[in-house]
Amino acid sequence: MCTMCEPTAPFKLTHSSSLDDYLSNNQVWSSNMQQTYPTLFTEYNSKGQDPHTLFIGCGDSRYNENCLGVLPGEVFTLKTVGNNINTGDLTTMSTLEFSVIYLKVNKIVIMGHTDCGAIKSCSDSNVYNNLSSNLHQYLKPINDLINEKRPELSELNEHEQMKQFSIYNIKKQYKTLTEIPLIKEYLENEKLEIMTLLYNVDTGLIEPVVCWSNCDLLESNRK
Ligand code: ZN
Repeated sequence: MCTMCEPTAPFKLTHSSSLDDYLSNNQVWSSNMQQTYPTLFTEYNSKGQDPHTLFIGCGDSRYNENCLGVLPGEVFTLKTVGNNINTGDLTTMSTLEFSVIYLKVNKIVIMGHTDCGAIKSCSDSNVYNNLSSNLHQYLKPINDLINEKRPELSELNEHEQMKQFSIYNIKKQYKTLTEIPLIKEYLENEKLEIMTLLYNVDTGLIEPVVCWSNCDLLESNRK
């Protein structure tokens, strides 16, 4: 291991880490998991998967499905830049089909987050207009959304504006998801529930985001 490039605690690996570092880290992780959950690999993961949830989040390195306190085998995952759901993208659409039709998940979590790089890039026209070509094209719906919503948020400071843009983006992705025929059908037949959530990178806590047609559901859950 490069002694000059030791990771800063609590992190485990660095830009300079070698394959050996990755392998030894994995051995430690696997050993810890087996000590904490002795039957996880032998009795469950080795015999297949039966996930209950599809998690759709941003690719940001600061959060993933682990913030829900789940273990390997519980959650199927799709992470994209800006938790953007692009219905023209084969990866996104095949992930939805595989998890809903074949794995039979009955919940989809759409989780955006605060301090999102995609949101920040789209909120500054100079940054957005100079993005590399694929990223520029991929993030156009988020850029359009921010330009549409910006006038409503002029009273807020920049930090609050970015948080609200993340919330608007979660609502937009929820709407996109519910308009996909497969998802619409499963929702109508009550085989699927969608949860919309915001992850706070400064606390590790999630909060619900109320979207149009699940408002009633959230209300009834509170009673
Ligand atoms: Zn992000």
